[in-house]
Amino acid sequence: MTTPLIHIENLKVEFQLGRALFGKPPMLRAVNNVSLNIMPGQFFGLVGESGSGKTTLGRAILRAVPISSGKINFDDGKVSYDVGKISQTELKNYRKLAQLIFQDPYAALSPRMTVRDIIAEPLEVMELTKTREETDQKVREIASKCRLNLEHLRRFPHAFSGGQRQRISIARTLVCSPDFVVADESVAALDVSIQADILNLLKSLQSQMGLTFLFISHDLSVVAHICDHVAVMYLGTLVESAPTKKLFANPRHPYTKALLSSIPSLDPDDSGKAQKLEGEIPSPVNPPNGCNFHTRCPMAEARCRTEVPEWRQLSEGHSVACHFSNNLPNP
Ligand code: SF4
Repeated sequence: MTTPLIHIENLKVEFQLGRALFGKPPMLRAVNNVSLNIMPGQFFGLVGESGSGKTTLGRAILRAVPISSGKINFDDGKVSYDVGKISQTELKNYRKLAQLIFQDPYAALSPRMTVRDIIAEPLEVMELTKTREETDQKVREIASKCRLNLEHLRRFPHAFSGGQRQRISIARTLVCSPDFVVADESVAALDVSIQADILNLLKSLQSQMGLTFLFISHDLSVVAHICDHVAVMYLGTLVESAPTKKLFANPRHPYTKALLSSIPSLDPDDSGKAQKLEGEIPSPVNPPNGCNFHTRCPMAEARCRTEVPEWRQLSEGHSVACHFSNNLPNP
């Protein structure tokens, strides 16, 4: 059996909010008891509303936020790290192997640096090249893979469009040849036509460079286009996880069903079929008892208010956390 590149077990990420005068200070549970595997070469999608914990989960894998409990294992066949217990020396090496593409290509690039210097910066900071010639060679190689002209390298970021800036940002992420990349809403700030261009670029870079992606998005149509496997998060927990085709053809959680029904359709007869979710996502400081979706779920029953649903496997690769997933009407 193939070893997962990223193996996560019962992960919790909590943040303390201020100080309490009496008793314990309030805690924000951003990620609560999440377990999942990301296989080598996979384009793994993570979806959910704002505040569902997607970004925190991505940052915990990169060790950009502290892990409260549980385990994250990274294993690329050459090195293996327990990310929660990683030493400072190991962390330096881990940073070369696991990287992040930022959401906003306008804020992510320093306006005072040339494109060459922006792309070269990770090589210099991580001391991956010995001479300027070697650095320039690597910068030219990745720039050409990201469809940037050599003449672009001398310019400053303000001279570029949103799509070009995102390609510069991707080149900077990939210049140190990582194994694993977290793409956090990486096309959300771009026009639709540019989004398609960047998604196709990511897909082609994945096969050229043997990359594994965690693709975080709130946009299910984008996820359907690019991901092999999708996990759905709600209020810090995973509610469903399945290969993309299975999830879109046969969602087994009411929240996934509501998200899928909200994808805009070009068919005028489909308008108005979106299943509206009532109410707001509850506060992660004080999540509801039982199933944390019961305050908005159209199928909730008394049991849902007291009993946390078990994470059950329905078929190969398809798991769900809902007491009544078998009673859900087929699409
Ligand atoms: Fe809805 Fe109950 Fe299933 Fe939770 S367990 S998703 S509240 S039906």
